[in-house]
Amino acid sequence: MPSYADFYRQSIDQRDTFWAEQAQLIDWQTPPRQICDYSNPPFAKWFVGGTTNLCHNAIDRHLKDRASQPALVAISTETDTERSYSFAELHAEVQRMAAVLQSLGVKKGDRVLIYMPMIAEAAFAMLACVRIGALHSVVFGGFASGSLASRIEDAEPVAIVSADAGSRGGKSVPYKPLLDEAIALSKHKPTAVLMVDRGLAPMAMRAGRDHDWAALRAQHLNAAVPCEWVESTHPSYTLYTSGTTGKPKGVQRDTGGYTVALAASMKHIFDAQAGQTYFATSDIGWVVGHSYIIYGPLIAGMTTIMYEGLPTRPDAGVWWSIVEKYKVTHMFSAPTAVRVLKKHDASWLQKYDVSTLKALWLAGEPLDEPTAQWISDALSVPIIDNYWQTETGWPILTLANGVEQQTTRFGSPGKAMYGYNVKLIDESNGEELTAPNQKGVVAIEGPLPPGCMQTVWRDDERFVNTYWKSIPGRLIYSTFDWGIRDADGYHFILGRTDDVINVAGHRLGTREIEESISSHPNIAEVAVVGVADSLKGQVAMAFAVPRDASGLVDDAARLKLEGEVMKQVDSQLGAVARPARVYFVTVLPKTRSGKLLRRALQAVAERRDPGDLTTMDDPVALQQVKDLVGS
Ligand code: ATP
Ligand code: MG
Repeated sequence: MPSYADFYRQSIDQRDTFWAEQAQLIDWQTPPRQICDYSNPPFAKWFVGGTTNLCHNAIDRHLKDRASQPALVAISTETDTERSYSFAELHAEVQRMAAVLQSLGVKKGDRVLIYMPMIAEAAFAMLACVRIGALHSVVFGGFASGSLASRIEDAEPVAIVSADAGSRGGKSVPYKPLLDEAIALSKHKPTAVLMVDRGLAPMAMRAGRDHDWAALRAQHLNAAVPCEWVESTHPSYTLYTSGTTGKPKGVQRDTGGYTVALAASMKHIFDAQAGQTYFATSDIGWVVGHSYIIYGPLIAGMTTIMYEGLPTRPDAGVWWSIVEKYKVTHMFSAPTAVRVLKKHDASWLQKYDVSTLKALWLAGEPLDEPTAQWISDALSVPIIDNYWQTETGWPILTLANGVEQQTTRFGSPGKAMYGYNVKLIDESNGEELTAPNQKGVVAIEGPLPPGCMQTVWRDDERFVNTYWKSIPGRLIYSTFDWGIRDADGYHFILGRTDDVINVAGHRLGTREIEESISSHPNIAEVAVVGVADSLKGQVAMAFAVPRDASGLVDDAARLKLEGEVMKQVDSQLGAVARPARVYFVTVLPKTRSGKLLRRALQAVAERRDPGDLTTMDDPVALQQVKDLVGS
């Protein structure tokens, strides 16, 4: 076995040899002629001339050896159902869905918008699209009509697949009225709407346009729809970024590069074997759902678990009971979910046998050390942070334990992954920082490796202008995150490039202040923003969720805790970082994907208009802040 350092070096110095080898992890109908065409930077074409199919690699390929092995287990603690599909059954269901979509007029290259809860039919729809060469565009089921309408307009789908309702906390959330409203709002109209009826909410069906999945499925029970062999560069899907920093970007992904990248990540990063079980708690509306609920695990021949429900219902042990029952080997979640669990007793995590777990991978936001330590103590399994973006499709920074076992360092997502030529760029002069422990913008020298975005959907110019900068002679992709790399190659993400505050000339990362505050025993979660100040330019302001708020009965009690928190920041970081105020709230404003909406928080704290809030989860969160700061 090579050392990871050698493996990484080869991926950069002998790029094509490296990826030619990875390409053998998947099935090709026609093998690629050229590994990487980077003749028109920053647009990279991977595995040119090759033809393949994502659905073939996820399902058909496994029929020979594991037809009766469970491929997909859809668990809902909302409807108290568990449905398991073997690879053979999944193959049949996906062909039925593919035949139905074809009967509704969907052809290769067409878009199909999927607006669905976490049910098996959502997976069928995604796999059916790529089977016939149509592009899916999954829109998170929690979005309301405005967000949905803008995505319908951008994707211009021929068909939309949806369901009568989702369910959250035991209450059904009807989708159809929102969908009808969104279609009415959108300039583009789909020709067909396919509805899955779960029996959760009544639906008004519009004749001629709306169709019932169960009825059409019954007409195609024996459907045999072969995989459409597509060019490696044929787009497989489009997906929007989370909208944390502004208008979401429509990420377009290819087919061959993505299939190879996922197959390689299952082997090298997750050290996964066919027959094992993967449980990612994300949603199919996000990139983690695409790469690690649906495609990655299936490509690897694993059983994948899809979960509809909360992490705390019926109780905070529910995920770990699933791990025990299904002998989950790989679990993937987000720091935001761990912080939810952290508000409950750690004993919930110890009620079940989780010894089958190789590790818990966490991504999506900075994983602060206290949270990492808490979950590590509670579960006694390795916790592996991984850093990436919707744009990249698979981890940029983490540990490749399938290549060489590496030690986790809490607070760091780890090392640059093979294929990513990661650089730190000095923002003041645009030059590369090469010495260790210097703070810079995390960037990737082109070409981006396989699996990353091809472009912004229908907007090459936005792709080039948003992400790419040239440093003498080279084109560099910016992640818009700050980072630092230590002498051993471990990286630390310090926050987004717009999350730096400037207090009387001192530049401070909001993340450092948040880490310091969250190490206080009674703080579950905290957000720090810079607020304009006439004297100091900016001051830090903190909004914290206490672990136990029962003692915060009056102003005196709140002031006491505020004082403790300030003192802690003083002693850990210095008085300059001390927040001007620490406000206590019950919930922080977050995107639907669980990311802190710092720009909205900052705007409200500065008594400004918070701007586009379509991706926000709970409006109560901002109202609390408004009430506290008096705007
Ligand atoms: P938008 O680009 O629309 O503003 P977004 O950046 O939140 O939204 P995503 O692609 O879902 O959309 O999130 C990627 C970002 O999440 C990264 O750029 C980084 O800021 C943050 N992130 C993801 N994983 C980690 C991690 N492990 N540690 C620190 N930050 C992370
Ligand atoms: Mg982003």
